[in-house]
Amino acid sequence: MRRYADIIIDISHEAVDRVFQYAVPWELISDIDIGDEVIVPFGRGDTERKGYVTGFSDETSYDESKIKEIIGKSDTISINKRFIKLAFWIKTNFGGTMIQALKTVLPVKEKIKAQEKKTVIFKASMDDVEAIRAKYVKSRSSAKLRLFNELIEEKALPFEIVRDKLHISSVTLKSLEKDGVIEIISEQEYRQVAQYASAKDIGFELNEYQLSAIEAVAGDFEKGISNTYLLYGVTGSGKTEVYIECIRRVVASGKQAIMLIPEIALTYQTVKRFRRVFGDRVTILHSKLSKGEKYDQYLRVTRGEVDVVIGPRSALFVPFERLGLIVIDEEHESSYKSDKLPAFHAREVAEYIAKDSGASLLLGSATPSVTSFYRARRGEIKLISLPERAGAGELAEVELTDLREELKKGNRTPFGAVLKRRIEDALAANEQVMLFINRRGFESSISCRSCGEVITCPHCDVALTLHGRSKLICHYCGFEIGYTKKCPACGAEHLAGFKMGTEKLVELTEKTFPGARVLRMDTDTVRRKDGHEEILEKFALHEADILVGTQMIVKGHDFANVTVMGIMLADMSLNDADYMAAERTFELLTQAAGRAGRADKKGYVVIQTYRPDHYSIVNAMKQDYDAFFGEEIAYREMLGFPPAYHMLGILVTSEKEAYADALALNIADHIKREFASEDRRVKVIGPGTSIISKINDVFRRVVYVRHTEHRNLVEIKDEMEAVLEKKGLPSHARIMFDFDPVRTL
Ligand code: ADP
Ligand code: ZN
Repeated sequence: MRRYADIIIDISHEAVDRVFQYAVPWELISDIDIGDEVIVPFGRGDTERKGYVTGFSDETSYDESKIKEIIGKSDTISINKRFIKLAFWIKTNFGGTMIQALKTVLPVKEKIKAQEKKTVIFKASMDDVEAIRAKYVKSRSSAKLRLFNELIEEKALPFEIVRDKLHISSVTLKSLEKDGVIEIISEQEYRQVAQYASAKDIGFELNEYQLSAIEAVAGDFEKGISNTYLLYGVTGSGKTEVYIECIRRVVASGKQAIMLIPEIALTYQTVKRFRRVFGDRVTILHSKLSKGEKYDQYLRVTRGEVDVVIGPRSALFVPFERLGLIVIDEEHESSYKSDKLPAFHAREVAEYIAKDSGASLLLGSATPSVTSFYRARRGEIKLISLPERAGAGELAEVELTDLREELKKGNRTPFGAVLKRRIEDALAANEQVMLFINRRGFESSISCRSCGEVITCPHCDVALTLHGRSKLICHYCGFEIGYTKKCPACGAEHLAGFKMGTEKLVELTEKTFPGARVLRMDTDTVRRKDGHEEILEKFALHEADILVGTQMIVKGHDFANVTVMGIMLADMSLNDADYMAAERTFELLTQAAGRAGRADKKGYVVIQTYRPDHYSIVNAMKQDYDAFFGEEIAYREMLGFPPAYHMLGILVTSEKEAYADALALNIADHIKREFASEDRRVKVIGPGTSIISKINDVFRRVVYVRHTEHRNLVEIKDEMEAVLEKKGLPSHARIMFDFDPVRTL
């Protein structure tokens, strides 16, 4: 039997699509590994080229006699090996193809022209100034004179100023150059990113909790111990200072660090604080940078000019050679889970990368994910706490409004009496207000306005969602009932969905508070590259009184003048049709409570809800994470949801509805037959309809499989991939895997 290796010749994003099969000579068989650099004959002339091994197989679909052999293995240990191994690990653990995985981890290597910086320099001798001036006056060359006079003063000017401010044409410049009056020099320079001013010196001493947190992480590291840590610190407890100090010490010992933030919107304030300590040796990487900007940052990294990279989950794949620490701020955020294939979770990938490079991983949050806290409880990761606020600011006072009562009193506006009064007071005192509304376009759960009850699945205990006008469906198991306006719990005819967007809320806010300046921040308004920063900057400068927005306003922003935070409808996240609904609600409310009142002014958070008794709301009010965790983990354990169980979501899509139905059913049956019959811990749920049953005329069906062990689910995924590959899917159908999904598929 022969063994074949899949080889990519050029390790770049674009070349990854071309994988070549080579035979492995027998003497190399036990010696060659995924990620290894090998020498192969390539092309018609069989020129020797470097290639990288991305996979192995025992079969080939090509003509056996035409397959070439690998010439040898090179001994260089390159960063590429690490990335190819990483891609392989991601593919294995999260599903998808090797090509998708490679595209995820490899930087764009496309050559991009270096950016030029041009300067116009005064070259004439000072002795000739009068003569030259006389000449230009005589020939009435006003443009030449303009630049000439300017340059006598300045000696050198940036090209952009000359062109755009002095309005000198290129013809004029050429002529001046010919006259020997000026010279234009050009230098290559990096496209600059993150050139924000650095924050001021902190001007305070770290407190004892911060110091011992730093000692736990950086102290371990200096002793040669790398580990995973969970820094659980209430909002405003000074976690960022802990990150900075840990990174400073890791960098001081000659290593590099990655700082992950959940959203690009938070880059600005984070970078400012980091520049104070790391100056130009910190940079950012994210998808909104231009290709050229990105390329230049990679260049700086590979040249060793950068110690710290800040960015969202993709920043994990920066090619650091001496990685010492990865920090994941707000580790509970769902944005750390990739919404593209492979559906990896940055937390898990970071842990793999950290182990692979001997680095430590520091997770931080005021509201740790149930998953991380569960692991900390089991001793798998080290728990560190910051139990107190660090700065002067007090926690905001949290007030609860029962919207059922408001309804009874005949109030049909989105503003309960308490919130309305708090906003009026703030406006009168020239303070600012944030109004948060959770808008998830397509989800529509149904609840009762009289009693607050949500219609849930009897099998899965998650909210059912409305499909069309008359059907309520469970997106895990497919359970289905008819929808009427009558509440099954209290009998009132008050069942309805929630549908209000930010735009509508802005309109109603302006109507309710005439004269207030209202600003909106949601995915629509921040689409432009600097959209986030512009809106935040405006609000920070008090050019608006009220900021209305979605999730993105709740997270991490620090506005000294904001004293009221209104959660318009807490139920919106609570009624999400998945097992993480309560966790997300608790997080949002707790984070929101941390926003208002951060400076010297007293802050108020007003939570409006139809379900004031729900444990996520009650415990968020009390800022009691432990109590919340206790209830939540009991629910997860009882119903078999992560982290108590692992869950594999299989999404089946097809343009043909009948095909999607049949395939989903086949997959569920196959898993039941092959796995569940032998291992009782395998639980197959579904098939069901996806939360979006159809996108662009493609039908979506889901099957969920649960097991306590992740590796058993990987086995099931492998088997399904193999079966489907053998069977061959028609071009209109696709299968996607999602481990421990954080959103309903
Ligand atoms: P977190 O990241 O936990 O929300 P931050 O690091 O943003 O907290 O700190 C919150 C505020 O407290 C910031 O304004 C910060 O400058 C301030 N701060 C942090 N540590 C201290 C300290 N030891 N003494 C006084 N103020 C502090
Ligand atoms: Zn169900």
